[in-house]
Amino acid sequence: MSQFRIEQGELVVGGLQLTRLAARVGQTPFYAYDRELLKRRVAELRAALPKAIKLHYAMKANPMPAVVGVMAGLVDGIDVASAGELKVALDAGADVAEVSFAGPGKREAELRQAVAAGVLLNVESFREVELLAGISKDLGLPARVAVRVNPDFELKGSGMRMGGGPKQFGVDAELVPELLARIGALGLAFEGFHLFAGSQNLKAEAICEAQQKSYELALRLAADAPAPVRFLNLGGGFGIPYFPGEERLDLAPIGANLAQLLERAATEMPEAHLVIELGRYFVGEAGVYVTRVLDKKVSRGQVYLVTDGGLNHHLSASGNFGQVVRKNYPVTIGNRADAAQREVASAVGPLCTPLDLLADKMDLPAAREGDLVVVFQSGAYGASASPQDFLGHAGVVEVLV
Ligand SMILES: *Cc1c(COP(=O)(O)O)cnc(C)c1O
Repeated sequence: MSQFRIEQGELVVGGLQLTRLAARVGQTPFYAYDRELLKRRVAELRAALPKAIKLHYAMKANPMPAVVGVMAGLVDGIDVASAGELKVALDAGADVAEVSFAGPGKREAELRQAVAAGVLLNVESFREVELLAGISKDLGLPARVAVRVNPDFELKGSGMRMGGGPKQFGVDAELVPELLARIGALGLAFEGFHLFAGSQNLKAEAICEAQQKSYELALRLAADAPAPVRFLNLGGGFGIPYFPGEERLDLAPIGANLAQLLERAATEMPEAHLVIELGRYFVGEAGVYVTRVLDKKVSRGQVYLVTDGGLNHHLSASGNFGQVVRKNYPVTIGNRADAAQREVASAVGPLCTPLDLLADKMDLPAAREGDLVVVFQSGAYGASASPQDFLGHAGVVEVLV
C-alpha cells in the first residue's frame, strides 16, 4: 500500500520499521495508526473541497482517545453516537458548538448529558423530542436539536445503506413537518437537519446525487422549521479502496458539487453551514493491524500461517462485519515486504472457528514463524468493532505513532 514506505525490506509505520515498532509496542497483536497520515488525509480533503464546508469526524470509525484527540485538532467537529463517545470527544477538547450526537436509541440519561454538555442533538424520534423538552426545563437550558431525516431516497452503490425506505434511523421525511411543529411548540432550539444515506461509497456521482437530493429535501423541510437552518449535515459515505480492482474516490466532482450547493445555500439558507461527516475516510488508511506468525503448517498442499490474533481483534478483515461475499483486505508480511520469494498462503487467527481468516490463499512474501502479518486499511472499524472476549485471548493494543 503506497501510503507506507518500505525500508530495508520492512514496512515503515509512523517513522519506525515494523520490527522496531513491534518491540516498542512490546506485544503482538497491535493496531498502529500513523499520525502523519491522519494529518495528510485531512489536508488533502480540505484542498479538494470548498473552504466553507465543515468537516466532522464520525468517531465510531475509530474511538481511540488519542486518535480522537488528533482529529479534534484537525477537523471542525466530532460526531458521536453514545454517551461514551461523547465523553471521549469532550475529553479530547472538541468544540461543543460542533459536536453532534446521533443514534436511534438514546437513553434519557444520555440525552440529559448531551444537553448539559451543550452539544447538538440529532433527534431521531418523537419520543426524543418529548424527553428533551422535560430535560431542557429541568436544566433551564434549551436543548439544541437538529432533525435526522430518513430520506425518501438511497445512496446508490453503498457498502451499507442507512437511509431510504423503512429504517430505524431518523424520522421519515414525510413526518418531519409534524416533528418540526412539536419542536417549535416545546421551545427547543432548532438548528438544522442531518441526512445520512449510506457508507463506504466509491462512486463520486452517487455521492453528488445524494448530496443534491439531501439539500433539496432539507430546503423543502426548512419551510416548516421553527427557526433558520444553521447546520445542514449532508452525511458522508466517502469510501476507501479495500479490495483488488477498487479505485480511489474522485474528490474533484464532489468538490464542484459542494461549491454549487454552497452558492445556492448562500441565498436559500443564508445562515446554514454545510457539514460533511466522515469516519473511515479519515482514519481507515492510516492504520495497520499487526499479528505474529505462531505456526506455519501445510495441510494437503495449502500453506497456513497461524497468527496470534484474528477476528477477535479484527472482525472486519475476517469478512464478518457486513461483507456479503468475503474478500481479502490487503495483507503483507511486514518484515519481508519486498521479498522476492513469495508463496500462496492463508493467514488464520488462533480461534477455533473457520471464520477466523485474515487472508484466504493470498500471494504473499514467503513467511516464517515469528514474522509479522500486516493487514492494511485497518484504521477504521477495527478494535472497537471486534468481539475481543470471544475465546478469551488477550486484548489487542492500539498505538498512535
Ligand atoms: C457510521 C456513521 C458515519 C461514518 O461512516 P463511515 O463509513 O465510517 O464514513 C457517519 N455518520 C453516521 C450517522 C453514521 O452512522
